[in-house]
Amino acid sequence: MNYVSTRGGMAPLPFCETVLMGLAPDGGLLLPASYPRIDRAALDAWRGLSYAELAFEIIRLFADDIPEADLKGIVERAYRAEVFGSEAITPIKRLRDGLAILELSNGPTLAFKDMAMQFLGQLFEYVLDQRGETLNILGATSGDTGSAAEYAMRGKRSINVFMLSPDGKMSAFQRAQMYSLQDENIHNIAIQGMFDDCQDIVKAVQNDHGFKARHKIGTVNSINWARVVAQVVYYFNGYFRATQSNDETVSFCVPSGNFGNVCAGHVARQMGLPIERLIVATNENDVLDEFFRTGRYAPRGSDRTYVTSSPSMDISKASNFERFVFDLIGRDAEEVKRLWSAVDAGWGFELGEETMRRVSEEFGFVSGASAHADRIATIRRVDAEDGVVVDTHTADGIKVARELRREGENLVCLETALPAKFAETIREALDRDPPRPAGFEALESLPQRVVTLPADVEQVKALVEKALA
Ligand SMILES: *Cc1c(COP(=O)(O)O)cnc(C)c1O
Repeated sequence: MNYVSTRGGMAPLPFCETVLMGLAPDGGLLLPASYPRIDRAALDAWRGLSYAELAFEIIRLFADDIPEADLKGIVERAYRAEVFGSEAITPIKRLRDGLAILELSNGPTLAFKDMAMQFLGQLFEYVLDQRGETLNILGATSGDTGSAAEYAMRGKRSINVFMLSPDGKMSAFQRAQMYSLQDENIHNIAIQGMFDDCQDIVKAVQNDHGFKARHKIGTVNSINWARVVAQVVYYFNGYFRATQSNDETVSFCVPSGNFGNVCAGHVARQMGLPIERLIVATNENDVLDEFFRTGRYAPRGSDRTYVTSSPSMDISKASNFERFVFDLIGRDAEEVKRLWSAVDAGWGFELGEETMRRVSEEFGFVSGASAHADRIATIRRVDAEDGVVVDTHTADGIKVARELRREGENLVCLETALPAKFAETIREALDRDPPRPAGFEALESLPQRVVTLPADVEQVKALVEKALA
């Protein structure tokens, strides 16, 4: 299985060569040259598998340059009951109205990012060991991605993590989660500024090609293809858990920001998993909802990105969206290049009626949006009717799912975080604290390890240099 760039400017590469790459060298995103198709016999054989077994069967179709025994080891280390709290790894529960919730947030940082990041940690370590190399990950986080990356990479010999976060802007729980890690290879840097300042520093360091090469700087951002592949697995697992037989179909509703999660659903559907519809749920930052409703994709600047109570979806430029558009327009790389030069120029683009008809009829996509009042109402209703406290992002998904659900449709909402991470909004909705999973009781009182720096590229570089000396 070889990988190509959505912008056509890269000779095809095998999986392992792409693992440590962020963007393709031509600025595009990586995708397999074609999607592996699975047939009914494969579905029948997979229905009874454990999560790790299923992950092995699916990922090996994409990573056929990793010897089978090695890949088995990687997925068995990544998807363990001790790490995800149950043998099921991603259990499912039904609400009273029949809506299913696929639990993706029982990993170490209580958000679905762990599903891919735990795999990525094992995969990076494997690939680096094979090559006798080391990697220094420099990232910026507003919360969930940074902590998921740190918990996946902690204690790994060949990897250091330098994670920039906006000083004082994350919740106390999120801060404590990251800053309480005492592992030597984890470096927390609080930047006196906003998330965008952190992001700008990472970009500036990435653009200093000398520094980047000298210090083997890499990333773990959501455009990483291996993360998408790992997420494909829980769509299959969710399908098996939500159905009795492989004659049935399901639809998924996905709280979305960077389009990484639902992009994995699109890949699963292209592979032949019986998915009827993929429902994209956004919050007030509705750039994706606007596209699916109107055909117009108009990314917005940070001045038009709202701070909301589902903060991990406060994104107005969906970095994984380019993968879907590549497939939608018949994998025409020249056309993708043309569309994204308009995106980079700040204009965006609009696709015609005929293409948009295919978005829903051929690719199964529809969308909806949710706002703060919807979130609060949904959290209250699910608590009252089902005795379940859902987090704010999952609430956005449930709201949109209920709005768009069709008669008889077996609809699965992806749970993207646990409410313990967003206590303030839960208190607003329910007038009480969200439940805390075992092991997190005293999180905020643990000693913290963080260096605070001004929003200055040179000082961040100096810190990285000193730590690696
Ligand atoms: C990252 C995240 C999302 C958005 O996922 P994308 O892959 O960026 O679309 C939604 N909810 C939570 C809790 C997240 O951490």
